[in-house]
Amino acid sequence: MNIILLGPPGAGKGTQARRLVDERGMTQLSTGDMLRAARTSGTEMGARVAAIMDAGELVTDEIVIGLIEEQLAGEAGQGGGFIFDGFPRTLAQADALGDLLDRHGVGLDAAVEMRVDDRALVERIVARSTCGSCGEVYNDVTRPIPADGRCSNCGGTEFKRRADDTAEALTTRLMEYYKKTSPLIGYYHCKGSLRTVDGLGEIDAVAQAIAGVLEDKS
Ligand code: AMP
Repeated sequence: MNIILLGPPGAGKGTQARRLVDERGMTQLSTGDMLRAARTSGTEMGARVAAIMDAGELVTDEIVIGLIEEQLAGEAGQGGGFIFDGFPRTLAQADALGDLLDRHGVGLDAAVEMRVDDRALVERIVARSTCGSCGEVYNDVTRPIPADGRCSNCGGTEFKRRADDTAEALTTRLMEYYKKTSPLIGYYHCKGSLRTVDGLGEIDAVAQAIAGVLEDKS
């Protein structure tokens, strides 16, 4: 089973992708995570993408398609299926993904749109932090870091905030989403792959809705 998680920043794509990895043994391919790793690697590409990411803009199609291509080559055939998290984000990326999947003889089962409203996104994002060890997501208001300062998932004691999780960068990230990524909803609708879930509910409820999509498809 191979799926795309589609939705604006803060929709909960990463949180749901991690659940699918834990519960179904799927492989999460997050271009955001790959780019965050690249920017700390000291490479020329890392330096180029850091400023773009911090401003909330999209990195070039060429770079992210290259990253996904490398990952697919390395991971193909491992079973469990792929979750494309934060990729594709443009029509050119969607076309490239279709070609790559064809080349690997892999099908796309669903593009799952996680629908949320913008006010909820701002509240989620500016209050967000993650465990530095396992990536568990916390929220200052709705899910604070446990009082003992230890991650409830792995016991880690270091928590990070993303440089682009500011109200200012979020405005740009949302604009990029509506201009460049939201056309993918129509694109996958036309291909018959689009499924929409309500991304505003509790994490468990959203996970259940996504599980429903996967069951329908299996
Ligand atoms: P994310 O972790 O998915 O929210 O991505 C963080 C940032 O990485 C985005 O705001 C973009 O700057 C960059 N990025 C991640 N995935 C892509 C993509 N598929 N295309 C272009 N830029 C991306």
